[in-house]
Amino acid sequence: MKRIGINSLSTLKTESEITQADTSKGYILFDSDLKVFSMDEGAREMLGLTNQTVTGCFLPNLLKKDAYKILLNYIYSVIQEDLFVQEDIKVSEHPVQWYNMIIHPIGKNSYSLLLVDINQQKKLIETKRKLQDIFEGSHVGIIIIDNKGKIIELNPAAGCIFGVKSEKLNGENINNFVSKTNEVPLKEHWIHLLKYGKAKDNEYIIIRPDKSKRIISFSASKNIYEGHHLIIFHDLTLQKNIQDSLIIERNEAERASKTKTNFLAMIGHELRTPLNSIIGYSQVLEEDKREPLTDKQKTRLAKILSSSRHLMQLINNILELIRIDTKTETINANIKTVRIKSAISESLQAVKSNADDSDISLHIEKDVEDISINIDPIRLQQVLVNLLNNAIKYNKNKGTVTLYWRVDGRYLAIFVKDTGLGIPFEHQENIFEPFYRINHPSYNIEGTGIGLTLVKQNVLEMKGTVGVSSIEGTGSTFWIKVPI
Ligand code: ADP
Repeated sequence: MKRIGINSLSTLKTESEITQADTSKGYILFDSDLKVFSMDEGAREMLGLTNQTVTGCFLPNLLKKDAYKILLNYIYSVIQEDLFVQEDIKVSEHPVQWYNMIIHPIGKNSYSLLLVDINQQKKLIETKRKLQDIFEGSHVGIIIIDNKGKIIELNPAAGCIFGVKSEKLNGENINNFVSKTNEVPLKEHWIHLLKYGKAKDNEYIIIRPDKSKRIISFSASKNIYEGHHLIIFHDLTLQKNIQDSLIIERNEAERASKTKTNFLAMIGHELRTPLNSIIGYSQVLEEDKREPLTDKQKTRLAKILSSSRHLMQLINNILELIRIDTKTETINANIKTVRIKSAISESLQAVKSNADDSDISLHIEKDVEDISINIDPIRLQQVLVNLLNNAIKYNKNKGTVTLYWRVDGRYLAIFVKDTGLGIPFEHQENIFEPFYRINHPSYNIEGTGIGLTLVKQNVLEMKGTVGVSSIEGTGSTFWIKVPI
């Protein structure tokens, strides 16, 4: 049984204490045989007995619902033991219904039962408890001060931020306290904050009693109740430390990347000169009519030339990649009005001998519209030549490459379709990354893994997009979409 005060009237709440904030209450008077001799309107309403005669009725008959059993138990105790009982009882869960009940004898053989609806009070208590939990458990520091700056309440997180036990600060004036703990007194800042609703600066450094530093920011709400103000402190130290170390790491990574880029650019330029000589002298040997080469020598020289050209392409691609990546020499867009068919035919022309060597046929789809477009033709050609060369290189024997386009409002979409190896789905996103190559087991195809990266970079510089759809074993269609 809950608290029952035996004749301890001093511990009882007074009736006016209970009823002052209240809307409904009800009285029942009854005798020791539990016969009701008076029940007011409030009690009838609470117990759902408004249309019923109650005077002379046996009280347990009126309190039949299970929920009232608890009430009856208290009534029996009072009658048997001549007690004063006061208790908060919950008589229903859905909807929640709380009463405060006082039962006591009021003379010989008569008893009074007062029921007061305390649902509102209970809700307030519950809300207060929840707020208290938030206050206590919050990671942000919360301090409530009065008009004079006296600390009325602060939560453990605030104590933690300032490195002091929160009890120690209760009652202290925030002006004295913050100036003790700060390099720059916070006083003027929080006064400004309360006056204007925002802090003067974003972050402040505080020194804790153990000399450690914390970086904090704070905000405030004026007059949350009766001249009390709320100041909320955020500890930014960890976040700042992480940010600082990220900046250091990023700077280091950038420095390392710059060194690598410079090195690659320097090596690239240095290699081009001797490589040009190798290619040049090989060509002289190849074409020398006075001292012609034997067939065996010609085959070997062809290998030297092919490898040198491949190496030269690799170096050129790397240098182009560095240029685009570091944007050192941004090529200004050179937009011209051109006929789309002739711009595309030029790219086809540039790869024709490659296609012939590999026995691949090149086509432009029939019925495509030939219109004027505004575009940088050089960049467009760089992109198309790369895509066409791949479509030739990764094609099947006697395969075909078909080019077609569609104009959609301000955009031009160009498609390069081949009948080649296709690209497994899991590689399709990655092939635009630098040096990403797929190992085609049945083909040994030379490449640098930079071509598509250059395509993507160029298309991005044209403010366009690029993509591929492909079926392994059937072929691929690369597309670009650029504004015109
Ligand atoms: P490279 O051709 O020099 O290897 P790319 O960047 O041009 O470099 O292409 C990256 C990879 O994408 C290639 O290694 C190849 O595996 C795949 N690829 C590109 N184009 C095609 C294509 N048309 N068909 C099949 N695979 C392709």
